[in-house]
Amino acid sequence: MNSAESNLQCCCGSSDVEEYNAYFYRCKTCGTLLVHYLISEKVDDMTVRFSKYDKFLKNVFYANPDPSFPPPSSVVDQHKAIWRDRLNALGVQESGKTGVFKKVLEIGCGLGHLMDVFYQMGYQPTGVDINANTVAWAKANYPQLQFICAPFEKVKFDANSYDVIVAAHILQHVLSPFKLLNKTNQLLAPGGRLIIATLVMTGDVNKVASIADVGGEWGEQTTTHYFTEEGLMRLLSRFGFIVSGKILGSTGDLVESCSEIVISAEKSLESAHARSLERIRTLEQEKESLLKDVANARSAEQKSLERIHTLEQDVVNARSAEQKSLERIQAVEQDVANVRSAEQKSLERIRTLEQERESILKSVSWRMTGPVRWIGGRVIALKRAVECKRAKEERES
Ligand SMILES: [Zn+2]
Repeated sequence: MNSAESNLQCCCGSSDVEEYNAYFYRCKTCGTLLVHYLISEKVDDMTVRFSKYDKFLKNVFYANPDPSFPPPSSVVDQHKAIWRDRLNALGVQESGKTGVFKKVLEIGCGLGHLMDVFYQMGYQPTGVDINANTVAWAKANYPQLQFICAPFEKVKFDANSYDVIVAAHILQHVLSPFKLLNKTNQLLAPGGRLIIATLVMTGDVNKVASIADVGGEWGEQTTTHYFTEEGLMRLLSRFGFIVSGKILGSTGDLVESCSEIVISAEKSLESAHARSLERIRTLEQEKESLLKDVANARSAEQKSLERIHTLEQDVVNARSAEQKSLERIQAVEQDVANVRSAEQKSLERIRTLEQERESILKSVSWRMTGPVRWIGGRVIALKRAVECKRAKEERES
């Protein structure tokens, strides 16, 4: 199993999903088939995924108007009559009779026919759809109704404000039916009604799974899920919905071995209460965690302040040490100056002493040579006297 598969979770909540064949994963818990490449790609933007489908619509329906688009009024009337019967069978009351205009929202409203049925029953309808062409047609033909052209997941609706929400043949096309129902559940008023129409596998699973070119008829694969009834029920129970009615196979097999199912489910007051309690618990946990964060931040701030204080003390100490060093340097420089001055004086003293020595030596030398010179003079005088005497004696002889 690669990582994409191991991360897979079926909308029923089970992660026990196996690769079934080249086109499908299969939930081992509820049996729902998930279209391999759509689920793996995780392109959650319906607008992106339906772009080719829309191109197909434009090319086939709008550029070459088919007699079936817009459907002839007889077909539309039949369609509306079917839905009126269904809503009646599911116990969806006419609203106008009570004098209260109940709010209804349709996810993927298409041409808006079903919203018109609700309008005729006294409801205040809003339709949302990603297809600009169908929304434009709906606005032009049902000007009294409200239509929004946007992906449902990106529109901000008021929470707990809708009495009825309808998703007719939408759930099997979205990447995450769980996310869609999660948002739906938030928008429904407590006790509000959810009406789902989708396909469920009622025949041989292998026959469904053997469709090689799933969705090929539309030019692009737009179905992500082939549900089992069990899977749908598990999905609804994840949000505490209470199924109050279902109509199975009312329009026959749309896809081989699949039947249409229409389910009416109520957002239970208990589940709303439980979700509120859960929300409160979550918020309290968040609050606790935030308080912890604040406490940690304060403790960190305290430590930082202490550290700053220590550092400031260090700076003061360093400055004081620097001051002492400067003073020491000054003292040493003074010592050096004193030593140099003493050296200078010593040198001068040495010079003076040398001069004195020189002069003493000179005077000693004079005193020593005086007697020698006197003796030398005496010797020369004697020599001369002897020579004179000898010369006199030679002359006399
Ligand atoms: Zn499942």
